[in-house]
Amino acid sequence: MRIDKLSLKGFRNYEDLSIPFVPGVNLIVGDNAQGKTNLLEAICYLSTGHGFRTRKEAELIGFGKELADLEAEIWSYERERTLRAVLFSGRRPRQLYLSGVKQKTFAGMRGLLTTVLFCPEDLMVLKAGASARRKLLDDALCQLRPGYEKALTEYNRLLDHKSRILKDHRESPSLLDALPEFQNGLAHLGAIIISYRANYLQKLARCTAKFHLEFSGRKEALQLHYKTVSNIEDPLCGREELEKRLLEHQSSHLRAELETGQCLSGPHKDDLDVLLDGISLKAFGSQGQTRTAAISLKLAEREIFLEDTGEEPVLLLDDVLSELDPRRQDFVLNQIGTGQVFITCCEKDRVTELGKVITVERGKIKV
Ligand code: ATP
Ligand code: MG
Repeated sequence: MRIDKLSLKGFRNYEDLSIPFVPGVNLIVGDNAQGKTNLLEAICYLSTGHGFRTRKEAELIGFGKELADLEAEIWSYERERTLRAVLFSGRRPRQLYLSGVKQKTFAGMRGLLTTVLFCPEDLMVLKAGASARRKLLDDALCQLRPGYEKALTEYNRLLDHKSRILKDHRESPSLLDALPEFQNGLAHLGAIIISYRANYLQKLARCTAKFHLEFSGRKEALQLHYKTVSNIEDPLCGREELEKRLLEHQSSHLRAELETGQCLSGPHKDDLDVLLDGISLKAFGSQGQTRTAAISLKLAEREIFLEDTGEEPVLLLDDVLSELDPRRQDFVLNQIGTGQVFITCCEKDRVTELGKVITVERGKIKV
């Protein structure tokens, strides 16, 4: 899988850009605030259907512009294709095109260009709050499993409704009439979400442990555990059983939910635990161990994408190499001998010898 050419009009600080890429390493070089990350964000948009720094489409459109037009010529699953998105300021919905054919939703484009993004915040993902780790899972699964994104979107919609009921039921008790319907819906969708996550995490755990062992010089054994709703002992037990357990858990927490006005039960609280030689990384891991484990996690994600789809995902490394010491840089670079990679960095970096250098200056490519 690769991107041969990217064209942007009115996207963030790019007025009009058309740029060819090489199949190997593309180095995006430039001073701060010139548009390096913006370029990766455009690639991400065409891959996932949204930006990675914002969910607000309006922020992606160049200041004062009516629209943003993004187009990528890609090679994937043995074919040339073009992915195009036109975003409008105001209320007009976006337009999407796959090889010139208008698409009603992003569903038809999903998975044609898969990307694995790695940025400095990800280095601390194992120390951060649980939501960062859920996002890691969600970002991967939304690309790999169309059913997952559908279930997650609907789950979040129902969760919003339920939250409102829990907040406002004292003022308007009749709201509680609708609660059972939301509980049932959330348990049904929650079971789907948990079973996707459990299956993905099984692979991720195996693969992350493999990278971490190698990376730590065969010194540290990493274990990754999925932590979901407390009465679910085996998250791989099947959707029906999961749904039953989720309903039970919701009932036993209903009183607390009504008292606190918060949704306390469900996979929106999921987390993953990482143990190094049996000891919690979140509580006791050093900064170096945390980074090493995070890199292993990202490399594992890339490998699973390849295993799962048969296509090498495009790897986007935003500023991450400059954050790493030379030994860790080398480990990452040695693992990515194949596939297309985009690396943003400052001019001073030693990695600039690795591939095609693209110099960005104020939203333009310097030639
Ligand atoms: P750094 O090295 O600091 O990470 P960068 O080259 O990655 O910098 P970007 O984040 O890609 O920088 O670009 C930032 C620039 O883009 C900022 O100057 C910002 O004002 C501008 N920018 C962001 N959004 C828009 C927008 N919607 N319209 C126009 N310009 C924008
Ligand atoms: Mg940047």
